[in-house]
Amino acid sequence: MNLKNTVPNVAVIGAGPAGLMAAETLAQNGVDVDLYDAMPSVGRKFLLAGKGGLNLTHAEDQADFIRRYGKRQNDINRWIYEFNPTNLRSWAKGLGIDTFVGTSGRVFPAEMKAAPLLRAWLHRLRASGVRFHMRHKWTGWQDGALRFYHPAGDIVKRFDAVVLALGGASWPQLGSNGAWVALLKAKGVRIAPLEPSNCGFDVNWSDYFKTHFAGQPLSPVAITFQNESGEKSRRLGQFVITEHGVEGSLIYALSGLLRDQIKGNGSTQITLDLLPDLPLHRAIQHCEHPRGSRSVAGHLQSRLNLRGVKTGLLRELCTPETLQSPVLLANAIKALPVTLLSTRPISEVISTAGGVKLESMHNDLMLKEMPGVFCAGEMLDWEAPTGGYLLTACFASGKVAGKGVLNWLAQKK
Ligand SMILES: Cc1cc2nc3c(=O)[nH]c(=O)nc-3n(C[C@H](O)[C@H](O)[C@H](O)COP(=O)(O)OP(=O)(O)OC[C@H]3O[C@@H](n4cnc5c(N)ncnc54)[C@H](O)[C@@H]3O)c2cc1C
Repeated sequence: MNLKNTVPNVAVIGAGPAGLMAAETLAQNGVDVDLYDAMPSVGRKFLLAGKGGLNLTHAEDQADFIRRYGKRQNDINRWIYEFNPTNLRSWAKGLGIDTFVGTSGRVFPAEMKAAPLLRAWLHRLRASGVRFHMRHKWTGWQDGALRFYHPAGDIVKRFDAVVLALGGASWPQLGSNGAWVALLKAKGVRIAPLEPSNCGFDVNWSDYFKTHFAGQPLSPVAITFQNESGEKSRRLGQFVITEHGVEGSLIYALSGLLRDQIKGNGSTQITLDLLPDLPLHRAIQHCEHPRGSRSVAGHLQSRLNLRGVKTGLLRELCTPETLQSPVLLANAIKALPVTLLSTRPISEVISTAGGVKLESMHNDLMLKEMPGVFCAGEMLDWEAPTGGYLLTACFASGKVAGKGVLNWLAQKK
């Protein structure tokens, strides 16, 4: 196609943060953009993310920030170079959304929610000429053109390039269901299986424990686990007991590692320190203090201020001998093993690992197998903990893919 005298027309499929950012990058550079999404409205997962406080990015220094992307940090560093946390905050400011740094370094919009930002963004995108096509489910290619299912009938349309930003596979009811995997695999694109990330884990709790303690937070608590090098590491934080097992920020932070250990071994073990600020010898002294006629639970409450779910966990996981032996009990308080059996289903987790392998793509996020087809966002094979790292990389990859399309179109002229 000779693009010399025509305005190129690019399709962006997927109206989440990555797709919207790609659309914006293209539209601001004079490209005619058609944006498609299977759902009736845009950014459904983004809006959900805003429900508990939209954590846009993180304010820690760049070296620490990049390390959060683990084995993909070198690739993602290139994306972040294009659109870093400071750029993200200025971009939000440009939409009239002030941001602030919370106590943990996490960055939020002043109003905490996603809706005002999304509203302002959509307004600007429309003003820059982006055409939105909702209820258009992309179903693949037909003779090199894109094919969409629409309730009024299938649509087949040819574009100069396409950006796929189809998300992962968590919360499929919001639109991202991983159905694209089969479509890209059929074209020879290498894809790592989609897996749960930032997920909870199943534990075989007794009915008694579930009934009495599901929903209760454990805080503060430390987890000792085996890190990537097989060494023991310790991390302080909090998590929640659920009907099925455990979840929450401390668990999410370790979820990639724990998931991979379960894949390798069938299950994995974490060790809980229920009193992370108390040295073991002090715990032993308190447990050895004569308890008279008090129950073990009463003794732990009065000597160590251990109560509720923490005491419940000891009763759930310790043998009667351990509960009766002060030294064994103190050791259990400081190092209580919990066996994690499986990850929670991908449909209910925060994000997805796996996806289009970065080795299948050029640095500008164009598929090696499919010139003119670019991918961005959570559908790529990377993962990161919660803390704003997910959205930052989605926005940044959308920017990279948008710029990639611009360069590719320029080369074709
Ligand atoms: C409960 C929850 C809370 C979260 N909180 C945060 C947070 O505070 N901070 C953070 O950084 N991250 C958070 N995340 C993660 C973050 O929301 C996602 O990583 C991010 O939305 C992914 O962006 P994306 O553009 O790649 O994909 P998505 O936002 O998933 O968008 C993909 C779009 O593609 C569309 N689509 C899919 N298939 C098709 C198809 N075949 N045809 C047409 N359209 C299609 C979908 O309808 C969807 O609109 C949270 C996630 C969840 C579930």
